Amino acid sequence: NAKNAGKNRYRFFDEEMNRSQLRKLLLEKDLRKAMIHEEFKIMYQPKWDTGTNRLVGMEALLRWQHPQLGLVSPGEFIPIAEDTGIIVPLTRWILTEVCAQNKRWNDQNDMHVSISVNMSIRVFESGLLYEMVTEALHASGLPGGRLELEITESIAMSDVIDTIRQLHTVRELGVKVSLDDFGTGYSSLGSLDELPVDTLKIDQTFIRKSNQTPKQAIISNIITIARNLNMEVVAEGVETSEQIEFLQSRGCHVMQGYYYGKPMSVTDISSWLKHTQSSKVPV
Ligand code: C2E
Ligand code: MG
Ligand code: MG
Ligand code: MG
Repeated sequence: NAKNAGKNRYRFFDEEMNRSQLRKLLLEKDLRKAMIHEEFKIMYQPKWDTGTNRLVGMEALLRWQHPQLGLVSPGEFIPIAEDTGIIVPLTRWILTEVCAQNKRWNDQNDMHVSISVNMSIRVFESGLLYEMVTEALHASGLPGGRLELEITESIAMSDVIDTIRQLHTVRELGVKVSLDDFGTGYSSLGSLDELPVDTLKIDQTFIRKSNQTPKQAIISNIITIARNLNMEVVAEGVETSEQIEFLQSRGCHVMQGYYYGKPMSVTDISSWLKHTQSSKVPV
């Protein structure tokens, strides 16, 4: 009868909830060991300048190979790493690895690009950003200008004064700052000029719909704002030549997306580099 059906549905819902809570608990427990067990891997995704036809940078993106569950996406484990505070030592490790790797590319492959690392709000709250960045730069010998931090609007807006203060300290080392997923947050445009930011990254949701007139208007305006504030602009999630043509026509020349390359391991980046040198990426 109806009463029982309702009960069963409730129980089913309960079990579903338990399952996702269990998974979260399991991931939380295993995250603590993952760093020591070297289960994290950093992937690098190219940023391509279509104006000069050159690689201008890369974004470091974290992967977690769980021994039983397989690949866990950052969308799932980063929030858990933030809740548990593990994100702070994890970001310290990423900064150290990325700077050392960039220095190797610099010295061995004559590749001079800047590599960006995604920042969590927890890192700003910890007050350890400056210390972590200087440590990674000193240990590697990488010039500050080859490191970039990606922050989101929500980080920038949470404790604006202190965030700006911390960003200024790292920028004095030459480190660059970009505003990630730009256009998706609800921060006030009115204070954008007060943020120590070098680059706006147009969120991929706009690029995906860049065949639609309303999204084209938004993209054009982001590019104009960047130009007027003397900031660089990068398009994220670029997958088609139509998107590239549109972006170029509006004055955006730096692209990141599957069209140019997915996030790749250090080894795959090497062969990707050889391939792009010989075949020259189109458009
Ligand atoms: P994000 O920083 O905005 O990174 C861009 C995401 O878009 C990446 O997903 C990338 O793989 C994906 N992407 C790039 N090009 C394309 C494309 O052409 N098409 C599509 N469909 N997707 C594309 P990923 O690696 O899964 O990372 C998701 C998010 O997780 C990142 O978004 C970032 O917010 C966070 N994340 C990743 N690594 C780290 C990290 O080391 N630290 C922190 N704090 N967050 C990280
Ligand atoms: Mg990013
Ligand atoms: Mg993004
Ligand atoms: Mg994102």
